[in-house]
Amino acid sequence: MTFRATILTLYPDMFPGPLGHSIAGRALADGKWALETVQIRDFATDKHRTVDDTPAGGGAGMVLKADVLAAACDSVGYDRPMLAMSPRGRPLTQASVRELAAGPGVSILCGRFEGFDERLFDARPIEPVSIGDYVLSGGEMGALVTLDACIRLIPGVMGATQSGDEESFESGLLEYPHYTRPVEWEGRTIPEVLRSGDHARISAWRKSMAETDTRLRRPDLWERHEGARVQSPSGARRQKEE
Ligand code: SAH
Repeated sequence: MTFRATILTLYPDMFPGPLGHSIAGRALADGKWALETVQIRDFATDKHRTVDDTPAGGGAGMVLKADVLAAACDSVGYDRPMLAMSPRGRPLTQASVRELAAGPGVSILCGRFEGFDERLFDARPIEPVSIGDYVLSGGEMGALVTLDACIRLIPGVMGATQSGDEESFESGLLEYPHYTRPVEWEGRTIPEVLRSGDHARISAWRKSMAETDTRLRRPDLWERHEGARVQSPSGARRQKEE
């Protein structure tokens, strides 16, 4: 089954862009996923093809009009999940990417300017999604990121790799660090354990590195990981202490 991606944007020429290369590009050429773009401006109704207007209540910038956006989204339909790229949305996670990748595809609405008229989200089944706590100038990069994360998980796309099971976030932890030849580079050697051929030791080392790096670099992930692991009595106690 082909994973169908539809991007609603004012800049359709930005697609497939980077997704035309490497793993995603090959998968696109092989028909493992299909890309369609919809020009939002085609759904404007006045002779100037206006898609935006000034913000109610005043302030800087322009807001994308609900009527134009809804017409564009309705033309695509809602048989697949429809996301709208927004820093105000639910954060994209590896778990949500997995869920999307297992489905028939995704439609992604890309914002520009100050974003969307909020009424769109009450009136249509469209979920605002954020790719991180920073502000982009448009949703297109977010759509590319979201799609890239999905496409590599489509069955048959990544080939022989173990469907990314050991990768960062899959277990709630960052992945362990990697090394490759030469064994010595600028006076630094590959950790001895990785050259030992002892698979039990290697796997214990990798687990411990994944835990240490997560604890040091991503205390937020570590806390969630530990919280999920710890049985409910102490979990409840910890909550009381807070
Ligand atoms: N005024 C808005 C930001 C608008 S940025 C606010 O402060 O919330 C313009 C567009 O870029 C947005 O409509 C959205 O589509 C996209 N965008 C910006 N940051 C994003 C992020 N972190 N994740 C996903 N999309 C983002």
